[in-house]
Amino acid sequence: MESITITHTQPDDLGFYGNFGGAFVPELLRPNIEELSSAYAKCNQDSSFQDSFVQLLKDYVGRPTSLYFSQKLSSKYGCSVFLKREDLNHTGAHKINNALGQILLAKRMGKTHIVAETGAGQHGVATATACALMDMKCIVFMGEKDIQRQAPNVQRMQFLGAEVVPATSGSKTLKDATNEAIRYWINHPQAYYLIGSVVGPHPYPMIVADFQSIISAEIKLQLKEKTGYELPTKIVACVGGGSNAAGAFYHFYSKDQVELIAVEASGKGIDSGASAATSALGSPGVLHGSMTLLMQDHHGQVIEPHSISAGLDYPGIGPLHAHSISTGRTKAVYVSDNEALMAAKELTLLEGIIPALESAHALAALDKMTLTNEDVVVVNLSGRGDKDIETYTQLI
Ligand SMILES: *Cc1c(COP(=O)(O)O)cnc(C)c1O
Repeated sequence: MESITITHTQPDDLGFYGNFGGAFVPELLRPNIEELSSAYAKCNQDSSFQDSFVQLLKDYVGRPTSLYFSQKLSSKYGCSVFLKREDLNHTGAHKINNALGQILLAKRMGKTHIVAETGAGQHGVATATACALMDMKCIVFMGEKDIQRQAPNVQRMQFLGAEVVPATSGSKTLKDATNEAIRYWINHPQAYYLIGSVVGPHPYPMIVADFQSIISAEIKLQLKEKTGYELPTKIVACVGGGSNAAGAFYHFYSKDQVELIAVEASGKGIDSGASAATSALGSPGVLHGSMTLLMQDHHGQVIEPHSISAGLDYPGIGPLHAHSISTGRTKAVYVSDNEALMAAKELTLLEGIIPALESAHALAALDKMTLTNEDVVVVNLSGRGDKDIETYTQLI
């Protein structure tokens, strides 16, 4: 039997985590995917690549991010609650870790030109930031509807020098932007396609999880320093595609005594028809080039998800999470729009930390867990809430 470490964090040679993953791409993209796989395998063994990545994380991103003991949440829940402060990263969330890792990879591959898609614009901003730093041309596809809804992020990307191209087909949202980015990549194989979460065809989910694994590497060291033990009893993270969760869980998959809790957005309620609770409502199918769980109707058409938080508003889930949840290693918890709003307000008033709406879902999950005074819980605070302030003003 394979060890849990291998089956959960590292896929097999074809990119499968159990039944999920793989690379379901048009024949025309095979060479691109193979070029990426072999370049990544080389970089992975090259200590100068790893050194430049770690250096950038330190000097440019501001890592390590702190592991903050929240006295007030600890009193409220009767256990020790630590917050992993990814909100303190440059650009305000964990996404920059991955964007920088992939830009370095693109550079090593001799690429000068990046293509990406973005939904709410968070990944687009992280990509445009990394491109500005590394003098790369940056093209970001974004649904026309999202461009209208997320004007500040569009302006940030443009100010950073990126070209934002509207996707005008279908529902004019993320999945249409993804289709157009892939089409662009087929026609411009010299471009590097930069994916923002642990989704897409193999090797992307593996690459993104590796780059985000810095989160749990730091948690282990920091917990040890603060408590004497490097393992928490529970670790909680929200899941859109699942990159911040993959990073926060990474070094704990093989530690069976650590409970992993993935928090999905149930929107207006799991059965309301307006939710993004993929692990509850999804069934196996191919989305964005990999076999995973996705919300689809009986014709295999993707069902439009809903969440108040743009980063969780995704109809699928990364294949490693699909595998880990379906085998029971990771437990899924569902948090609604309203519960997330209340948790955001609570953290803001208790600690003076305004969390991203996505991260507020992870915080709200504390209320749904059985906790004792033996518990040491780490909540991954994936990002800061400045971008959500318009939504939060209704709670004042
Ligand atoms: C994008 C985003 C998420 C969701 O993406 P994952 O890949 O699931 O981590 C969560 N939190 C914040 C702050 C984000 O910007």
